[in-house]
Amino acid sequence: MIEIEARLDELEQLGLARRTRLVSGPQGPRVVLDGKPVLLLCSNNYLGLADHPAVREAAADAAMRWGVGSGASRLVSGTMTIHRRLEERLASFERRQAALLFGSGYLANVGVVSSLARAGDVVFSDELNHASIVDGCRLSRADVFIYEHGDVEHLEWGLREADGRGALIVTDGVFSMDGDVAPLPELVDLAQRYDVRLVVDEAHGTGTLGPGGRGAVADAGVEDEVDVIVGTLGKALGSYGAYVACDLQMARYLTNAARALIYSTAPAPPAVAGALAALSLLEEQPRRVEKLQANAALLRSELAGQGFEVSGGACTPIVPLVLGDAAVALRTCEKALERGVFAQAIRPPTVPSGTSRLRLTVMASHSKSELRDAARALAQAAKAAGVQPEELHPPQA
Ligand code: PMP
Repeated sequence: MIEIEARLDELEQLGLARRTRLVSGPQGPRVVLDGKPVLLLCSNNYLGLADHPAVREAAADAAMRWGVGSGASRLVSGTMTIHRRLEERLASFERRQAALLFGSGYLANVGVVSSLARAGDVVFSDELNHASIVDGCRLSRADVFIYEHGDVEHLEWGLREADGRGALIVTDGVFSMDGDVAPLPELVDLAQRYDVRLVVDEAHGTGTLGPGGRGAVADAGVEDEVDVIVGTLGKALGSYGAYVACDLQMARYLTNAARALIYSTAPAPPAVAGALAALSLLEEQPRRVEKLQANAALLRSELAGQGFEVSGGACTPIVPLVLGDAAVALRTCEKALERGVFAQAIRPPTVPSGTSRLRLTVMASHSKSELRDAARALAQAAKAAGVQPEELHPPQA
């Protein structure tokens, strides 16, 4: 039996215990955190749509028109016309035959990966893939070959060794903790040469990268080559839930095989309506994506100006400040809060040991002066926590 008290004590001593912080009000560029006004620099509300008036109104109207809950799973009575409308809109946004709504990105990854591999198969998974992909791999009961981060040579070695047992390659498009982008053209090439499927999780790519904000896959020009795209509604699209974009046959298969879809209540109508409104805004106002990318570039250059060596893809909104030790990351987070900036400390097991960090995320709704001030405050916070920005080095991507 797990000794819960001892385990909690141990986490506390290692500086790895977690607690939730309380945000009052919507996820805007500024929030009240645990009673104190701060600049929010760790929300995935990349395009500022979660708190956009049109998105809020659409969700509120939907609550009145459709009710709050969907009442049942997709395959019982939970699929309402509003779900179908969003699926059609997402399919056309992604230029795919079909899109299938899931309750969350976590559920979508678990559902897809566990449906596309089984005992005896081999799944190839990047070592920095999101936890939901890891859990999908475990649930599939397939053998899992974890290739070194972004290392296509290591991956090819594994594909060769699998000797025909390969089922799929699965990768984050934009890596959630490092902000770098998977080598998608090379992954496509390997998937084709070794005849395995390719699944790309676009949780942090949708709405942030590529033409029309269609993600890392579109940015790499390989949209027709990826078997399954997983997109979330809870980040750039400002709502909650997720979708899979694929061909009709795959959608039909997942509807029959993905237990995370079959056995879970359909997304709530207000969330679906909010996502529909957000999608319209994304399509009508591409400058939001440009503003986000400009803000990300600005924060990176401001941090570099403060002496930080900043890693990650130059154009993604995820900017990791790797501090190393968990206690140092926590201390820096507290010192930043004292200076009015909220950037959550991310520690193991979310990131590898020794790479604890502040994971900064930029929003299109941040102003330039907010980002400049934040870079300055973060440099002061790091110094107050006992580290010099110049001494920090990003993880090797
Ligand atoms: N994939 C990635 C890469 C993520 O970062 C996340 C969320 N942190 C998810 C999937 C899960 O998505 P959701 O929050 O919608 O469950």
